[in-house]
Amino acid sequence: MRIVIAMMKHETNTFSPVPSPLSRFTRDGGGEPPRGQAAYDAFKGTGTSMAAFIDLAEEAGAEIVTPIAASAAPSGKVPTDVFNAMAGPICEAVEAGCDAVLLDLHGAMVVADYDDGEGELLRRLREINADVPIGVALDMHTNMYDHIVNNATALAGFQTYPHLDGYETGIRAGKPIMALMRGEVTPTMAWGNRPMLPHVMRQGTADEPNKGLQERAREMESQGALAVSLFTGFPHADITNAGLSVVVVTDGDMAQAEAWRDELLDRAWAEREAFVYKIEPLEESLARAKAAGDAGEPGDKPVVLLDHYDNAASGGTMDSTTVLAGILASGFDDMVAFAVHDPDSVQIMAAAGVGNEVTLDLGGKTDMPSIGERGQPVKVTGRVKLISDGRFRNRGPASKGVQMDMGPTGVLEIGGVQIIVISRHQEPNDLNAFLSLGIDPREKRYVMLKSRIHYRAAFSDLAREVVECAGTGVCTSDYDQLTFENVRRPIYPLDLANQPD
Ligand SMILES: [Zn+2]
Repeated sequence: MRIVIAMMKHETNTFSPVPSPLSRFTRDGGGEPPRGQAAYDAFKGTGTSMAAFIDLAEEAGAEIVTPIAASAAPSGKVPTDVFNAMAGPICEAVEAGCDAVLLDLHGAMVVADYDDGEGELLRRLREINADVPIGVALDMHTNMYDHIVNNATALAGFQTYPHLDGYETGIRAGKPIMALMRGEVTPTMAWGNRPMLPHVMRQGTADEPNKGLQERAREMESQGALAVSLFTGFPHADITNAGLSVVVVTDGDMAQAEAWRDELLDRAWAEREAFVYKIEPLEESLARAKAAGDAGEPGDKPVVLLDHYDNAASGGTMDSTTVLAGILASGFDDMVAFAVHDPDSVQIMAAAGVGNEVTLDLGGKTDMPSIGERGQPVKVTGRVKLISDGRFRNRGPASKGVQMDMGPTGVLEIGGVQIIVISRHQEPNDLNAFLSLGIDPREKRYVMLKSRIHYRAAFSDLAREVVECAGTGVCTSDYDQLTFENVRRPIYPLDLANQPD
């Protein structure tokens, strides 16, 4: 028995000016994504769906082929040649012959020539082999298309956000395939969507309505479904099928799959207003955060300020400075900020050397034409505290054990504010991003994070209070700043007035 196991993950923010070259799909300093044994070694034993696939295949005594393991931080559209460079090795491995295919995909990859990158990959695989069982693990932020469902045999998506169940999702997607090969089940899938774009800031699974929706999906699995996935979707993608969808996999029972699908879709639609995010003006947020910190006692947990318009894990440039400038102007003290993406400034800091003073035009190097904003650096003078290669391994709970790479990294001290400056985009969802630089955010009064929901993986228990700060960026929480031309209309909440009940 021969099983092809591969990873090709990207969440594409079609409003993002951040490019998506092949080197972005690596986790160790550029180059090309790992292939063959290197792909296996990079993810075996980690908290990822790919690791779960490897374990399932090894338990079954299968020969494993790992043509590629490619994963990038979210950014703009993927060039078609980059897509082909990743899809090609997977197609070749399937063409060489196999008994099953297990794919760790994201489900929101927009390629220059294809709105649905995952669907295009699966369509190509089906052309090569019409019958091979294909199991696919997907992110909760999948924007679902017919090509994905129709060309796969079984699908499962994350049921947690922040995403802590990568491994479990791989098991849920892979088990029906292994059982099918043993002749025990006949996976049957029903999928559907509703015309709604749930706001990312309202999608966390600690909060309603997604908490209850995901609990119900898990309950359906305990009641006999092979896999039930409610995808909240990724709204910063101006493509036809952006938004919420449901996929239910049963053992040969289409009527039951459709009934469960419709129950979840109807419930999500009924709760659509709770997926809408309300924005607080930045000045009020900063004042509220400052007051919360001032009221604290020594030893208290930090107050977290979220710069959620500029989140690298949603395609943000991670170099917008609106919130940071506000912080520096408001006299915050005892703070660490993660992070500003500015490779040039890191080089200047490295050249100046640890302990020395530098003056920088920090951040603001990227224009954001989709929202009509130019990059605006903030002029700062500070002391170089530390220079690092920016590499660390996740301590978990999210993607435990996976090698991460922020690129050359510097810590700049401006009075009581430490700013981490990085050269590769990195979401602050793991404590080791800080601890690897000798900074313990738990001991600060304030922590500024360019994040939206994923920070909760590492920080929800560590923060005394979280203040969401409306800054500037291409993952803006204000949909009015974005021009949607391709998403199906009407869609909630963009067309509030035109919705049927
Ligand atoms: Zn996601």
